[in-house]
Amino acid sequence: MLSDKDRIFTNIYGMHERTLAGARKRGHWDGTKDLVGLGRDKIVEIMKASGLRGRGGAGFPTGLKWSFMPKETDGRPSYLVVNADESEPGTCKDREIMRNDPHTLIEGCLIASFAMGAHVSYIYIRGEYIREREALQAAIDEAYDAGLLGKNAAGSGWDFDLYLHHGAGAYICGEETALLESLEGKKGMPRMKPPFPAGAGLYGCPTTVNNVESIAVVPTILRRGAEWFAGFGRANNAGTKLFAISGHVNNPCVVEEEMSIPFDELIERHCGGVRGGWDNLKAVIPGGSSVRCLPGHVMRDGAIMDFDWLRERNSGLGTAAVIVMDKSTDIIKAIWRLSKFYKHESCGQCTPCREGTGWMMRVMDRLVKGEADPAEIDMLYDVTKQVEGHTICALGDAAAWPIQGLIHHFRDEIEARIADKRKGAVAAE
Ligand code: SF4
Repeated sequence: MLSDKDRIFTNIYGMHERTLAGARKRGHWDGTKDLVGLGRDKIVEIMKASGLRGRGGAGFPTGLKWSFMPKETDGRPSYLVVNADESEPGTCKDREIMRNDPHTLIEGCLIASFAMGAHVSYIYIRGEYIREREALQAAIDEAYDAGLLGKNAAGSGWDFDLYLHHGAGAYICGEETALLESLEGKKGMPRMKPPFPAGAGLYGCPTTVNNVESIAVVPTILRRGAEWFAGFGRANNAGTKLFAISGHVNNPCVVEEEMSIPFDELIERHCGGVRGGWDNLKAVIPGGSSVRCLPGHVMRDGAIMDFDWLRERNSGLGTAAVIVMDKSTDIIKAIWRLSKFYKHESCGQCTPCREGTGWMMRVMDRLVKGEADPAEIDMLYDVTKQVEGHTICALGDAAAWPIQGLIHHFRDEIEARIADKRKGAVAAE
């Protein structure tokens, strides 16, 4: 269990002052100038050694990503863009950082931007996060007034400007290249890759897009050292992590814990257990709505909450947004709801996603009611396979995977629904 002295986010519940004075009392903005003074290469080296993997879902090593940025400028500016468009169903961790602990994010922006040679950074925040953007903007203003941002930011000798940009509520703008398009004032549609943003990102300039949590942990990692951070979790799954647990637990919450914490410990210690007890656990979506669900018996039987363990079970840690479902859940209907979401959020520019998400949702519509032929289950699975990996961005996969998880683990339930319908015994709507 993570002890209080090892928490990076010391105000995640908003129990203390979120102001600059409050943040300073908790150790933020302490010796920032010296951290910048470590120099670009050293900072990147420490980030690599810490083992931090991106907290936005993909889990790509953060230090390595930073190292892709050009060392020498060819005349184009470099940018850090922070992805705060947290819109994945179930994911609600970055908002707690922004509204309660905003200064660790702002300090992280300065240090990370310096490490990538960027004098300007943008935070792209989800449009619906109104209180969060108010809190974050107030913190940015405070930081400017205190000389922590702007010319010679925090006395570091590095000029740095930070802008907060409000999105308009499209889920797809959380995809990094759609986010860049939207930031440029265009429709939020993902770009073909390559070129990758480190080569040609915002306004065609070298850009790194990082998640809020990935940037907010940077100052503490530099202060306490790479070994400290790497000491949590299993090999290749280092660090502390914000978990957002929702659904059928007694106390849904966002909590910072050690990576690789066993699932049962996470739920018992922080969420007061599963509603109705462990025997009542039906399924878990362990990493935000886009990963494949796992049945309750797999999760209660020693599941480890990290990237590698969940990937080996054909699911994923994603954003560590854990959706717990008890036996009262109509799992077919729950996954249908996600299909409807992805269909609605598809930007429509590639055919497998534009047509496939609607097609899959319509079959799911009928599976919920049991109004299908059993052969359609395999057909649906086949279509998910044709969508997966054949689209410009990961939304196609995100739409396919929940259905694959459903069919893989709960096929008997789908078949029983169809059989019941034929007998005239279906209660589902
Ligand atoms: Fe748009 Fe879907 Fe293609 Fe992504 S996969 S670019 S959301 S149509």
